[in-house]
Amino acid sequence: MTLTRLPEAFLHMMQELLGTEEYPAFLASYERPSHTGLRVNSTKISTDIFSERVSFPVEPVPWIGNGFFCGEDSGASRHPWYYGGVYYIQEPSAMTPASLLPVEPGDRVLDLCAAPGGKATELAAKLKGRGVLLANDISVSRAKGLLRNLERFGIANMAVCSEKPEKLLSCFPGYFDKILVDAPCSGEGMFRRRPDMAADWEERGPSYYSSVQKELILQAADMLRHGGCMLYSTCTFSPLENEDTVEWLLKNRPDFELIPTKWYEGFSHGRGSCHHAVRIFPHCMEGEGHFAALLRKREEKGAGAGDPGDRDAGSGIVASCLTGRDDRTGQGRSLGEDKVNVLPGAAADFLASLKDPSFLNGQGQWRIQENRLYYLPDRRIISARLRFLRTGLLFGEMKKSRFEPSQALAMALRAEEYPWVLDFAPEDERTIRYLKGETVVPDEVPCSSGWVLVCAGGLPLGWGKTHNGMLKNKYGAGWRML
Ligand code: SAM
Repeated sequence: MTLTRLPEAFLHMMQELLGTEEYPAFLASYERPSHTGLRVNSTKISTDIFSERVSFPVEPVPWIGNGFFCGEDSGASRHPWYYGGVYYIQEPSAMTPASLLPVEPGDRVLDLCAAPGGKATELAAKLKGRGVLLANDISVSRAKGLLRNLERFGIANMAVCSEKPEKLLSCFPGYFDKILVDAPCSGEGMFRRRPDMAADWEERGPSYYSSVQKELILQAADMLRHGGCMLYSTCTFSPLENEDTVEWLLKNRPDFELIPTKWYEGFSHGRGSCHHAVRIFPHCMEGEGHFAALLRKREEKGAGAGDPGDRDAGSGIVASCLTGRDDRTGQGRSLGEDKVNVLPGAAADFLASLKDPSFLNGQGQWRIQENRLYYLPDRRIISARLRFLRTGLLFGEMKKSRFEPSQALAMALRAEEYPWVLDFAPEDERTIRYLKGETVVPDEVPCSSGWVLVCAGGLPLGWGKTHNGMLKNKYGAGWRML
């Protein structure tokens, strides 16, 4: 990127922010290439095994336990493991916010601005199948990509919706344990990687985004329970969008405090009173520009930490927007009549064939809707009248009396949880043919007739169906490699 294409006003702001000593190094960073990385899905593989077995060169990202640098031309986005949700391709600095939010298994987590899912996939992985992630994005089209990425990651305990934050707040005041607000921003930190964003900046700069961010951060704050943590992040440098937004929150919600995060030597501190916030500058680290601030909502006076009454406090209020038709929009889902305790025969048989599947976390329930079977997470979340794109895991579909397992189920399973597995080497040309939806001829089929879990290097990719020694490719049509 040539410096002449950066907006004058932006350069002036950066000079003020960094001072005359640091500014030249910042400018020089635009002469260097940006970095490409990937983040390993810890629910599918350990980072040690991944780095031993991956077929292209990777280098650890020093401040992200499961992050790796990989070359732009590594082929990571065409590798079968990418299709298997084994990793997410992500710029290294963008891995930071989700790594700093201390999500624990069992938490109720909200990702308010989640598409396309770079951070939501990591938050969900940190839940280890327990608790729930509600991933929202105001844009329906972007939320579709978010759903695909969460499904590819094999996440069952999630719901994806596309709502305005005020609507979410009316359903979930004080409800979540952890919230990520990865706010829409002017994108200054991405100018090196995406020069087109510099042109957008001149149309909609920091002051436009600042007012959106101030609204979002207060709405998110009101959805957090006392004692919970919220992480506010942007990929921009402007203090107006970063420190000023945090200060706006602290002024308007005095029960919040900015707290220190896990620190890495390349991080820079936030300006002024936001010392504990993290700034990432491309001249200090091998990543693009980012800002992250970890905030805690203090316990209410007199309420003990972890008080079970406290955890349930939101539910009474949530009950006020429980299921039924929304008279204004005609949207909404009725859960009452189609919840099921007993699965239809063929689906129950299929479930019985699974060996202790990890997605069955004991907290969910089954639901059948238009012949599709879902395993639902947290009842209260999915009972809200929201524009959901998905609630829980799509287990499969009844086709008359037959059951067809879903692509999402294949992604949520581990190879050892299914009895009939066909495992190709990732480098085997049949793996790519399978991902393209073509016919593949296995050396041997694991059963004479029935559903087979097709894997690459021991990690599931999708389904096939055998009949008379032949394999029919059942890889999801919308999931194929082009
Ligand atoms: N967290 C995402 C990730 O890591 O992949 C990136 C999020 S991007 C920085 C900001 C997102 O906020 C966009 O997808 C945009 O559609 C969404 N957005 C913009 N305004 C919003 C609003 N008022 N409420 C919720 N989402 C909003």
